[in-house]
Amino acid sequence: MEENIESVEEWVSKLDIETTKDIHVPKLLFDQVIGQDQAGEIVKKAALQRRHVILIGEPGTGKSMLAQSMVDFLPKSELEDILVFPNPEDPNKPKIKTVPAGKGKEIVRQYQIKAEREKRDRSRSIMFVIFSVVLLGIIAAIVLRSITLIFFAIMAAAFLYMAMAFNPVIRNEKAMVPKLLVSHSSTDKPPFVDSTGAHSGALLGDVRHDPFQSGGLETPAHERVEAGNIHKAHKGVLFIDEINLLRPEDQQAILTALQEKKYPISGQSERSAGAMVQTEPVPCDFVLVAAGNYDAIRNMHPALRSRIRGYGYEVVVNDYMDDNDENRKKLVQFIAQEVEKDKKIPHFDKSAIVEIIKEAQKRSGRRNKLTLRLRELGGLVRVAGDIAVSQKRNIVTASDVIAAKALSKPLEQQIADKSIEIKKIYKTFRTEGSVVGMVNGLAVVGADTGMAEYTGVVLPIVAEVTPAEHKGAGNIIATGKLGDIAKEAVLNVSAVFKKITGKDISNMDIHIQFVGTYEGVEGDSASVSIATAVISAIENIPVDQSVAMTGSLSVRGDVLPVGGVTAKVEAAIEAGMAKVIVPELNYNDIILDAEHINRIQIIPARTIEDVLKVALVNSPEKDKLFDRIASIINNAKIIKPQK
Ligand code: ADP
Repeated sequence: MEENIESVEEWVSKLDIETTKDIHVPKLLFDQVIGQDQAGEIVKKAALQRRHVILIGEPGTGKSMLAQSMVDFLPKSELEDILVFPNPEDPNKPKIKTVPAGKGKEIVRQYQIKAEREKRDRSRSIMFVIFSVVLLGIIAAIVLRSITLIFFAIMAAAFLYMAMAFNPVIRNEKAMVPKLLVSHSSTDKPPFVDSTGAHSGALLGDVRHDPFQSGGLETPAHERVEAGNIHKAHKGVLFIDEINLLRPEDQQAILTALQEKKYPISGQSERSAGAMVQTEPVPCDFVLVAAGNYDAIRNMHPALRSRIRGYGYEVVVNDYMDDNDENRKKLVQFIAQEVEKDKKIPHFDKSAIVEIIKEAQKRSGRRNKLTLRLRELGGLVRVAGDIAVSQKRNIVTASDVIAAKALSKPLEQQIADKSIEIKKIYKTFRTEGSVVGMVNGLAVVGADTGMAEYTGVVLPIVAEVTPAEHKGAGNIIATGKLGDIAKEAVLNVSAVFKKITGKDISNMDIHIQFVGTYEGVEGDSASVSIATAVISAIENIPVDQSVAMTGSLSVRGDVLPVGGVTAKVEAAIEAGMAKVIVPELNYNDIILDAEHINRIQIIPARTIEDVLKVALVNSPEKDKLFDRIASIINNAKIIKPQK
């Protein structure tokens, strides 16, 4: 694991560019997708064969990009326009016709011209009839010498006009013009339709409600038909993220659409007049790309999932990639891409590139990896760009990225910042001096919210020890939300206590309190802190309050690695601690950015003794304690060979 990767600064300094402006951004969307080579190959194959795909992975890692890139590989020249026509036999069952792409508009126009012409002819004949009636009246009046007849003739003409002009059949003659449901031009790429979160009407099509339902003013049914996303995606790609959130009925409908490649459109609102209308089946021959995280896929309609699996591919996308030369270059390409896509922000100079790559290292949460949660990283790029713009600079530098990080902190981080402020004001933790039985533990929040990064907090722990009421019947009394964790931690390491303090904890009541904890704190990794607080209390040796610590303790007293160390160390820095103790096995996981580096002394610990050496204040009691530990260890060494 410890192969030597060049430091980011050094690596960037060797790049043969001034800014990201000098980076070539590929034209094809497929080539813009970073770090998903394997998923990319499969998606490409699926497109060429028109197969469905399930993409599994974390949000913002390129699933919708991959889906969209498929349209460049779908067979072309198959595109079709879809028209809906009135049905003279059954007005509530409009007819559907498909024509080659681009032809739809032409057809509608021809019908319009025809309708116009018929309308003109009709008004001409109406005028002709009226004119004839009036003329006949005048002739009759002259012949019969009667003025009244002229009056009657005019009345008759007016009546005729009214009857004809308001006759619904004549008036609605324009209703014979079909409506274009789905249209393309002959040069269009196959469509990509993102239907994430769409309601039933948008997904499956709808028939609009008609406010005028009678009296010759109603809009004909076929004009009220609206295409759904499944129809708009005909011959293209339909993308649905978080597919499990789709109502089961809609998932069932998609299954039917996949099987039949056709789906009729009907009114989705039961009370509207549209509910009576149902078109002939409308073509919807799309490639489905369903996406989501593991849970989402597990909860999707089983029949739908097995249909896709049977006729396509299931692919897991990466959420991080190796930190190597090639992938760092891709990340630089990513910055260039995001800048060009945004169009408003300036390019990044080398110092800014360094900060972004380091942030990608940090957000991966792993040594020698780079995060692929690029939507969030893209957000950082844009905020940094906005800061440069607001200061009227035409280049983004490191300081913009650092400022952007402060601005675009996730919710959890903002809450943690507030809590640090409040804890400082109310002195729930100290950063100097020494106190018996009080330890600055470290924890993370937001670990269960799927955030790309952890957010650390200081978690003060206080322990107090009193003699048990009855010998051998000591209790562990832990309060606060993390009480159960504390009890378990103390029980787990009771052997360690015995070894270190030489005292049996069954003769004591141990009280443990987590100070001011709140929802969402994950305290699983607090056992080193708990043990330190308890030992300090038992031995009456004060704990240095400028020290914070994290780590999990084995039953033998070894310090085991924990999650979120970088975030915890950052929290210790923000809180103003001078030293932080971390598990030795986590030491390499700590990746600090320019803002945090060299602001705290980081001390790796392998055993609880290593922790106590740093955390307990130097005193005769401490020396005695370590003499005792040493003698126990020496005795153990003498005993061993006899085995
Ligand atoms: P998802 O569908 O996985 O939630 P998207 O594909 O919608 O994520 O990504 C959102 C944005 O984040 C993209 O438009 C792009 O700017 C950026 N992005 C995410 N993943 C990648 C990637 N693998 N390569 C390049 N850009 C990415």
